[in-house]
Amino acid sequence: MKTTLGIAFHGAARTVTGSRHLLTFGGKKLLFDCGLYQGRRDEAERINRTFKFDPAEVETVVISHAHVDHIGNLPTLIARGYAGPIHMTPATADLAAVLLADSAFLMQKDLEHVNKRRGERPARTPLFTMADVEETMTRIVRHDYHVEWSPLPGVTARYDDAGHILGSAITTFEFSAGGRTRRVCMGGDLGRPARAILRDPETPASPDSLVLESTYGDRLHSDDDATVNGLIEIFHRTFARGGRVVVPAFAVGRTQELVAMLHTLIEDGRIPEVPMFVDSPMARNATAVFVRHPECFDEETFAAFHDKEGAPFGFKRLRYIGSPDESRALNDRQGPCVIISASGMCEGGRVLHHLQHALGNARNTILFVGYQGEGTLGRRLRDGAETVNVYGEPCVVRAEIAALDGFSAHADQSELLQWVRSFAPAPRKIFLVHGDLAPAEVLAQKLREQTGATVHIPELGQEFDLWE
Ligand SMILES: [Zn+2]
Repeated sequence: MKTTLGIAFHGAARTVTGSRHLLTFGGKKLLFDCGLYQGRRDEAERINRTFKFDPAEVETVVISHAHVDHIGNLPTLIARGYAGPIHMTPATADLAAVLLADSAFLMQKDLEHVNKRRGERPARTPLFTMADVEETMTRIVRHDYHVEWSPLPGVTARYDDAGHILGSAITTFEFSAGGRTRRVCMGGDLGRPARAILRDPETPASPDSLVLESTYGDRLHSDDDATVNGLIEIFHRTFARGGRVVVPAFAVGRTQELVAMLHTLIEDGRIPEVPMFVDSPMARNATAVFVRHPECFDEETFAAFHDKEGAPFGFKRLRYIGSPDESRALNDRQGPCVIISASGMCEGGRVLHHLQHALGNARNTILFVGYQGEGTLGRRLRDGAETVNVYGEPCVVRAEIAALDGFSAHADQSELLQWVRSFAPAPRKIFLVHGDLAPAEVLAQKLREQTGATVHIPELGQEFDLWE
């Protein structure tokens, strides 16, 4: 019988969300990532509820990392009849437990709100429930980095560190039949060299075919020194005014990276010792996962973690806020302080009451350290709105609005190119996913010039042969 190896791109094709790639080898189906599509409510509902393949026919699922756009639709897959295991690294599994439970909880709350307004129309049902999340967690099989395992007969898999978020992996598959082997590398989301906490992205064995993200395929991040110096200047001038710095930050990854960075800057005497607070129950849970997985840290973080009693996540000037009362009590504090709180785009969570309290006072600074999506409160503030609505009430913006864009967890154009060039020989075929069309096209051209590979930017649902 003729051997076949194919890949079909069922998500994150010419967009940055909803990763789902279906590999088919000798008639058996392996799904790589099963992310939630995040976007406008109705469109997202439709996309997340539809699988262009029968989940019951999938034999196995392999996951790259715990971001919701890579794991968030697993419970739906299970609810639709997927019966097999879900492979991931141990740190990804622990983060998935926190993130999927949070996702089911938020979905339920959102639905109650929506159904209240639907009146006579039939009530909407959730995409998945907490029971689906619990079932998902029982299917997880954990694999450490650098250990080979077999997801299907005739197939081996191995995880290398992607340096993107805790537990993130680059996955290399080897498909063997009839004395031939094809190596396929699924890059997942690729991190950046020399970041706080995580190791640099590793380079696995050279693949025949590479699936690569292209989020920042046409952009270069500002360099690290500029970001750190910018942070120091913002802190100094805010504290000199006697104000506070409120940082809306994503609870997983960005918060821990900031905390580790502040720890180093205080140790080095580059920022004054002011009280610092992390106020997000989600960030607290995520940090607990970080503390359980020192095997994912780079050397400096690992050493600091062991030598200095829980530093860099629990240094002595930093307090993790618990109850809502404790959170509100921060509003009564006088003098300089730093409050890191979620959500990162100010679309909900405790950061809202900190904004409501801080925005009207010119002494304070609101510091953005992450991407602010179209239509979010974070984007309106970043774009310089003079008045915004918080909890439905108008708030005049008098505080300084600052933004540092050097914190991205995704490799930029030069980092992506450098990583691909580290393969010798270069992959013959490269597929660009997880990026809008414009950045993907710019990156594709550079890759063609620098590696000689055939580079595709798949459309949604498009299939390719990886055996020939
Ligand atoms: Zn990611």
